[in-house]
Formats: sequence, structure tokens, C-alpha cells
Amino acid sequence: MARTPLIAGNWKMNKTVHEALVLVAELMPRLHGLAGVEVAVCPPATALTEVNRALAGSAIGLGAQDVFWADSGAFTGMLSPPMLRDVGCKYAIIGHSERRGRFGKPDECLNPDAARVFGDTDASVNLKLKAALKHGLVPIVCVGETLPERDDGLADKTVAGQVRAGLADVAGEAVAGIVFAYEPVWAIGTGRACDAPEANRVTGVIRKTLHDAFGSEVAQAVRIQYGGSVNERNAHDLLSQPEIDGALVGGASLDASRFSQIVQATSVIAKDTRKD
Ligand code: PEP
Repeated sequence: MARTPLIAGNWKMNKTVHEALVLVAELMPRLHGLAGVEVAVCPPATALTEVNRALAGSAIGLGAQDVFWADSGAFTGMLSPPMLRDVGCKYAIIGHSERRGRFGKPDECLNPDAARVFGDTDASVNLKLKAALKHGLVPIVCVGETLPERDDGLADKTVAGQVRAGLADVAGEAVAGIVFAYEPVWAIGTGRACDAPEANRVTGVIRKTLHDAFGSEVAQAVRIQYGGSVNERNAHDLLSQPEIDGALVGGASLDASRFSQIVQATSVIAKDTRKD
């Protein structure tokens, strides 16, 4: 089944509104008219409204970096799915490892107790995912193992468990519209991307998990990105893997030239392999 690859830029806690608008203005002409690839940017919440305005008429979609599960209420600091739809979001990243309190470079982070402030668990990911679907947001659900889990031979089990738990009580027809991102925690922000064949293999584990739970049609429809130190040099290798349907890009998405090169590489692959 043809799956259109999705390249999404996760800007994390970077860019003021002005800087965000500069980046978008640089990106739009570079990405204009590219075929066979879907593109999204996920700025910080403070810049969503203005970036949405700037993207008007462009094919670049807007995404949020997180979403809460309730529609409204006494949840200080949270943003609901209707609020994100209101400012033009089409996508919402859910369960990013940083929001699960799992960091690729733990030394650079907060102390482990403080990191729990992010608080996402498989249960919260499941609630957020269901709320996003209910309100028509495309969830980009992140899963991935830490280095100790990989070293202990637990990568596949960890990833499959996160997929299953995230999808509890979700109907098969809704699952097809979800995007998963395989993001090994040890590869995020470290400059150490997963080898392409291994990234493809674990992505296949995710698809097999979907297959076992929801059947072949759903499993073949779901897009599964790779994320973790994707850059303009390794993009072609990673994105030409048959199981990998695009990338979730952190650091390299903050630079218009680097991000565009990743998108262009994906567009070329889509054309060559008729993936689209
Ligand atoms: C990410 O934040 O999801 C990510 C993959 O970051 P980076 O590309 O910087 O490793």
C-alpha cells in the first residue's frame, strides 16, 4: 500500500515568535512544489498562531508538541485539542521521550526526579491519543527504547509495549490515521542516529505489533517515521528503508537549509520508488 512519507520538524523549546516567522519564511520557498512528501512544523506553543498565519496557502502543516486530553477545565498550563485546532494545528506530537522524562543525553538534563515534571506515561499517551483523534488531530506518537533497555535486549519489547499500551481502546479504523515515530531515546539529540537497517527492523516490529492487534490492512496503512539525529547526510539512507515513512526531525529542523534538504531527499526517494 502506498504511504506518503511525513517529514515533521519538532522545534522543541526553540524560537521566539519572530525567529519562528523568519524560519518559516525561509522554508516556504524552498519546499514549494515538492511532490510525494508531506511536511509539518511543530513550533513552540507561543508561536503557533503566528506560524499558522504565515503558512496560509502553503502545503506545510502545523503541529503541536504535546496535547492534553481534556477539552477544557482546571488544568493549569495545558493545551486542549480544541485549542490546538483553533490555532490551526493538524498534528500533535504525543509521548515524545522528553515528555516521558527519558532523555538521550541525561547528563545535560535535569536531575531524574525533576525530569518527572514532564510526566507522560503509557496511560497518559493513550488518553492524549484518543483525545487527539476525537478532535481530528493527527497524532504523531513517539515510542523508543533507552540505551540500557537496548543493551539488555529489551528494545523490541519496550517499543511493542508502548505501541500496545498507547492504543488501548482505540478502534482499528482510527489506528490507520495515526502516525508513529520510532525514536530510540539514545539517538535523540546525540548526533548518533540508529543504523538504517536497524531502524528499519524496529520499525518493522512496530508494524508487526499493529498487524497482530489490528490486521494487515491497518498495519500497512499506518505511517511509521524514524526520529533520532536525522540530518541532511543520513536522511537518504534512513528514508529509503522500506518500513520507514518519513522522519521526526529535531535539531536539523531549526535550520531551513538542513530541513529542506531532508524533505528534498524524501521527495526524490518517493519519486524513485513510487512510494507515493
Ligand atoms: C526529536 O526531537 O524527536 C529528535 C529526533 O531530535 P533530534 O533530531 O535532534 O535527534
